[in-house]
Amino acid sequence: MKPLLTDLIGGLFPVAVSDELLAKCQKSEALAKQFIPSTEELNAQDYELVDPIGDYTHSPLPGLIHRYPDRVLLLPRGNCPSYCRFCFRKSSVGKSSNLSKSQIADAIDYIKSNSQIRELILSGGEPLTLSIPELRNLIKEVMAIEHIDWVRIHTRLPITSPELARNFDFSVFENLPKPLYVALHCNHADEIDDDFVTFTNQLRRCGVTLLSQTVLLKSINDSTELLETLFRKLVRHGVRPYYLHHLDRALGTSHFRVSLEKGREIFSSLRGRLSGIALPTYILDLPGGEGKIPAESEWLTESNGNYTAQSPFSDTKRVTYIN
Ligand SMILES: *Cc1c(COP(=O)(O)O)cnc(C)c1O
Ligand code: SF4
Repeated sequence: MKPLLTDLIGGLFPVAVSDELLAKCQKSEALAKQFIPSTEELNAQDYELVDPIGDYTHSPLPGLIHRYPDRVLLLPRGNCPSYCRFCFRKSSVGKSSNLSKSQIADAIDYIKSNSQIRELILSGGEPLTLSIPELRNLIKEVMAIEHIDWVRIHTRLPITSPELARNFDFSVFENLPKPLYVALHCNHADEIDDDFVTFTNQLRRCGVTLLSQTVLLKSINDSTELLETLFRKLVRHGVRPYYLHHLDRALGTSHFRVSLEKGREIFSSLRGRLSGIALPTYILDLPGGEGKIPAESEWLTESNGNYTAQSPFSDTKRVTYIN
């Protein structure tokens, strides 16, 4: 990595690659493309957004996003051990600070006083870099709330920092009073190596249910064969593919963008080839906080190259989607 390039891109977006991941990037092009900065990030497009899915329009407290009535997203950490170049929070993650103990306590109070919230989701910046006492306390307090049915954690730790993943104290997930779901962010079969498998096996031993989410990325996983290989490998290791995300329109990510037309083509060809267990939902998160919809279905209709989405929040509301 040339220092000048890192400085230039680092001024706009966070740049970090952990040592062990860097060594893996030297062996896998699919990993290198996801983590090594490229000058193409400087080509911001006018359809790209600082807040591509409207997180900040639904944030009642710092680090808390409450878009859907039944679930709330908490971002306790402002950073990740390594940064994905296509991250939809790339304009905020790595620049925001960690939540303080009192901010986390405020978030727990918010959940306590909103009985329509049934699920807490911890998401990135990497939530598994919370200190173990903080994580233990957070899970314990939230699971003790009567109206909370389960907790979900979104993580990329075994990929962004194999070292932290190896040293993780899994006892924090043992003997929990309510179900815990962990969704692993994983985009290519090369990411499912010994470090990943050791990590997921430990989680399974604690009784955690494992899911995955994948982002559809140009020249990394945008083919039927690559996705089939990935999803089969995940299921073989006890991870149920949950979402295949259409890329959000974050600034400086156009070199990763696959058209909706191509994404829908790839996805429909997977349907005939894969067990239902291995087939995630292809999902599109509409800009402006309009919500997530299945990208391959009648929720999203195409006419002369223009897309119209039906809002998940209202039967009558239609949203134009420009791809
Ligand atoms: C994606 C998202 C969720 C989780 O949605 P699921 O469809 O349940 O995975 C929750 N809150 C916000 C704000 C989100 O963007
Ligand atoms: S691990 Fe997640 S939050 Fe962190 S940079 Fe990658 S996509 Fe973004």
